[in-house]
Amino acid sequence: MNKIVYVCTGTCKAEITEEQYKEGLVKCGTDGCTMKGHNFEKRTKCGICGKVFKEDVQHSH
Ligand SMILES: [Zn+2]
Ligand SMILES: [Zn+2]
Repeated sequence: MNKIVYVCTGTCKAEITEEQYKEGLVKCGTDGCTMKGHNFEKRTKCGICGKVFKEDVQHSH
């Protein structure tokens, strides 16, 4: 089953859970990251292979 994750699109490539996002972790705070201070972007994570992709991307096995 796929799940929602949030990712930093900068150099740190952080990935956080939907729960963490809802608890207020909404932007990157990693020193040196190119996207520090920018909001994370919503992604879908495949529950089978673990691949992270945009919501509008077709992904199947
Ligand atoms: Zn980052
Ligand atoms: Zn997959």
